[in-house]
Amino acid sequence: MNTIVALATPLGRSGIGVIRLSGDESLTILRRLVGDNVFDPEPRVAYLKQVRDPESSEIIDEAIVTYFRKPHSFTGEDVVEISCHGSPVLLRQLIDECLRIGARMAEAGEFSLRALANGQMNLAEAEAIRDLIDAQTTAAARQAIRQMRGEFSHQLQPIKDQLLDLIVILESALEFVEDDLPAAEASTVRNGLVATRDSIAKIAATYKAGRLLREGIRVAIVGRPNVGKSSLFNALLGSDRAIVTEIAGTTRDQLHEKFSINNIPVSLIDTAGLRETTDTVESIGVERSKRTIADADLVVVVVDASEKLTVEDRTILHSTERTERIIVVNKTDKLSENDLQRFLGSLRTELDGDSPPVIPLSAKTGDGLEDFQHAMMKPFSGPELSLNGFLVSDARHFDLLVRACDEIDQSIELFDRNASEEIVLIGLHNALRYLGQITGETTTEDMLTRIFSTFCIGK
Ligand code: GDP
Repeated sequence: MNTIVALATPLGRSGIGVIRLSGDESLTILRRLVGDNVFDPEPRVAYLKQVRDPESSEIIDEAIVTYFRKPHSFTGEDVVEISCHGSPVLLRQLIDECLRIGARMAEAGEFSLRALANGQMNLAEAEAIRDLIDAQTTAAARQAIRQMRGEFSHQLQPIKDQLLDLIVILESALEFVEDDLPAAEASTVRNGLVATRDSIAKIAATYKAGRLLREGIRVAIVGRPNVGKSSLFNALLGSDRAIVTEIAGTTRDQLHEKFSINNIPVSLIDTAGLRETTDTVESIGVERSKRTIADADLVVVVVDASEKLTVEDRTILHSTERTERIIVVNKTDKLSENDLQRFLGSLRTELDGDSPPVIPLSAKTGDGLEDFQHAMMKPFSGPELSLNGFLVSDARHFDLLVRACDEIDQSIELFDRNASEEIVLIGLHNALRYLGQITGETTTEDMLTRIFSTFCIGK
């Protein structure tokens, strides 16, 4: 294996910057850099050293160097970490020196890939490190740590064992008997398959909450001009982010903002009013709004309680019928309780039997804002979100779990139709392979390359 090098800390000015080397030549390269051919560092001990240009012997920096002898390192290979002062120019120069004297630049995720190849961790654990680094909330980070510590693999192992047991029963029936499985054995196999499928489905079902923790929800705020979308947006963010004006049609562009409610990342998109328009700029905004609604996890429809529902309001209410939505009745500060009730009555008539959550509030005074935040999280706060359980948060893992379920389902169906064991087994082997791909046991080189390309260089 050739020796790779990369900056392990972000590029930019900082107190320290860490350069990491991994591979057989790591120690030799370190010796060249410190200008001492017999430097024999004790593993895992930090040394203060002068780092020099190997050609001119000029001092480049004073750095703390640490050597990790294989296999006791992150990658399982010889690793050297050089903690220099965090100057981008200096770090660049040092990396260039490493490249000149035998290292090559690491590719995205290559350190983790080597750790995987050397059995230091499995695939799900390597992905967890990436997720931990990318985590946007403490809750997401906590989940990633659980996965990094092997929790996912522990949950999957008994399921894989069970599936393998069932495969063995069917395989041996193939070998020894010409007739069907004995009735008792057949029912053991069938029950076992159903139980295995259910266990996998249960883990897969946590993905909804897991994805939420990881990616957050996309909330789109829609409504005709002047109902108070921008004001609501600002009230939620506690700043004057969107432009608020009294002239209809001013929010031409979309504004994105990220914040978190109960540790769940929320990205808010304020869309241009959805009214039909001849203004080109505005009509582009309208088009975009329609797309945003289609992509959102939750749509917030804002209506103005101080005015009667207009044709435009009705169009918007109808066009969002099939989405997960909340209706905000804004500007309640402008009217009496009686008038508000009257308005809510007319809104209910308009909704015609559909009963999405309706939240009266005032973006101006902040009245009702808490109820609104609560309602926003409600569709996404199942018991899985208690954070006690492990959650699947990676789309790749979810996809593999679903595929494994489908394969087992098909096998059960074939089994019930008295198909030969040979045919039933195909799906079960596929399912086992899919489960193995989660932790990387049955992952092909191609897939690994694809997965690790989502890592940054230096990881
Ligand atoms: P948008 O076009 O839907 O984004 O609406 P804006 O947020 O720009 O608000 C339009 C007008 O309504 C502005 O003059 C706001 O000050 C006013 N407004 C918004 N929300 C409220 C509210 O809750 N109460 C009152 N009284 N006025 C509001």
